[in-house]
Amino acid sequence: SGSPVTITITGAGGQIGYALLFRIASGAMLGPDTSVRLKLLEIPQGLGAAEGAALELQDAAFPLLDSVDVTDDAGRAFDGANLGLLVGARPRGPGMERADLLEANGGIFGPQGAAINAGAADDVRIVVVGNPANTNALIAAAHAPDVPRDRFTALTRLDHNRALGQLSEALDAPVGEISRVAIWGNHSATQFPDVSHATVRGRPVPEVLDEEMGPDAARTWLSDVFIPRVAQRGAEIIRVRGSSSVASAASATIDHVRDWVHGTDGAWTSAAVVSTGEYGVPEGLICSYPVTGADGTWHVVPGLEPDAFAAQRIAASVEELVAERDAVRALGLL
Ligand code: NDP
Repeated sequence: SGSPVTITITGAGGQIGYALLFRIASGAMLGPDTSVRLKLLEIPQGLGAAEGAALELQDAAFPLLDSVDVTDDAGRAFDGANLGLLVGARPRGPGMERADLLEANGGIFGPQGAAINAGAADDVRIVVVGNPANTNALIAAAHAPDVPRDRFTALTRLDHNRALGQLSEALDAPVGEISRVAIWGNHSATQFPDVSHATVRGRPVPEVLDEEMGPDAARTWLSDVFIPRVAQRGAEIIRVRGSSSVASAASATIDHVRDWVHGTDGAWTSAAVVSTGEYGVPEGLICSYPVTGADGTWHVVPGLEPDAFAAQRIAASVEELVAERDAVRALGLL
């Protein structure tokens, strides 16, 4: 394996971090030929958990693991970073106003953006997992003026994978037989999981659903069952499991980075990327789109024609992104 790739993971002492680190070190993210140098960033209260994870990484004796460095200094953590997985965020506490949440996260993602700007490698790529992910990515990007905008992304791959899982069950087909699913908009309850272009074993999903359920029942299933179940899956996991999703969130993060770096060979997936105005989304917003990965870049799938239902759902989610952007702008965080 060539020279190691430097990967900074924030909130590395948390639940998702714990699930993520071992898969990265095993080669699941960058492949069996790429060794990795891990830099774990935590706040002081999280350092013990991150240091414990570092000890366990040593004990796992991964041949691809070059080194592990634990720090609470963002400058040190992002120095030389090729990849930044921004997981640590301020969770919404009981009674917390949205403005307080955005402000608390501004205090995290602004300085991290500045540290990325100052010290990361020229090819740095960032994915924000910590919520509100799209807007946190926007804040980090705004503090990294020398880094190309398209290197800042937010995770909607978990929503995408959840949509695949639900369709797989409904259509009684393995996920590998389903293509062209898409998540549009914000990583939030307003997101739009879109199957209008999806295919199963090469056949249009809407056609198969109509055939199996009848057109009216299919339409109702999509709007009243499928979409809310995907958008509210996080709450369902908390209800059933007793705590939030962790391994699936880590797995989606691995998928996102792997497909960004290695490409998707033409297959669609979903990622929140900076809009350059595609599909009427205001330029500069970090918005989820159907994308393909090629040459180390995300490409928004061009030329789709959302129907009236889709256009209205996309617009509603984009409106929320605009409101979040305006709120952080008013707080002076952009
Ligand atoms: P988790 O590791 O479970 O979650 C981390 C973040 O990921 C949360 O903001 C969470 O958002 C978000 N997230 C996104 N998608 C999902 C999903 N599908 N399921 C669950 N979470 C999701 O949280 P922990 O509290 O265990 O760990 C967070 C760590 O981050 C702590 O160790 C803390 O010390 C650290 N931290 C580090 C910072 C830094 O490095 N500067 C700054 C702030 C915190 P949501 O809240 O909406 O669930």
